[in-house]
Amino acid sequence: MIRRLVAQCRDILTGKCCVLCGQSVTRSHICAACAVELPRIAHACRSCGAPLASQSDAQLGCGRCQRQSPLFAFVVAPMEYAFPVSGMLKALKFHHQQFFAPVLGGFIVNALEGSLGEVDAILPVPLHRWRHFQRGFNQAAEIAKPLARRTGLPLIRNVRRRVATTHQTGLTTAKREANLCDAFVVDGSLSCQFPLIVDDVITTGATIRNLGKVLLAAGAQRAAAVAVARVIRDV
Ligand SMILES: [Zn+2]
Ligand SMILES: [Zn+2]
Repeated sequence: MIRRLVAQCRDILTGKCCVLCGQSVTRSHICAACAVELPRIAHACRSCGAPLASQSDAQLGCGRCQRQSPLFAFVVAPMEYAFPVSGMLKALKFHHQQFFAPVLGGFIVNALEGSLGEVDAILPVPLHRWRHFQRGFNQAAEIAKPLARRTGLPLIRNVRRRVATTHQTGLTTAKREANLCDAFVVDGSLSCQFPLIVDDVITTGATIRNLGKVLLAAGAQRAAAVAVARVIRDV
């Protein structure tokens, strides 16, 4: 039994079986049958990543971004925060199942293929050092690794979270913004013009907005953000 489990884990780690159903695969981490079931967001506003009804809506951008100039050059989140992606993100974040990181990182690599433009550095959303110590790793940094490997872009290492923010879960957008106010700081100066923020999930967008403002105030010309998934709320 234990030997079989070890063999299964080894197969997942070496990418020989689907991380969702265990079927053998040759090239991907997820088999074709599971891939079609993934909760992909078909159309979204390029500037803020908000889901939209059609491709023509996506080309126009959402109403909010048409009314006021968006903070980011682009925001991409290819998946809805729903099963099984939500399960993989929770397994990585709370149960240390780090073999999901390259799978989740692969989603953002595919979503950004050919559309990074002049992005010149990658910034995984920093964890406060105490949270990092407790968890042992930063899930955003793990998710960003495949993108850094594929693009060769440098990671920004001199931005830190100076406030150990209380958990954001269950907070309203306004409370999240207040919770995050001045949460991030750049140590020294930024050595890039166009950083790309990488996060695991966009819930209200408060984290990436707060970090984006800090980067622009520190001298970045533009900023963009990518996350594996986005929480979609009924309006
Ligand atoms: Zn599968
Ligand atoms: Zn928008």
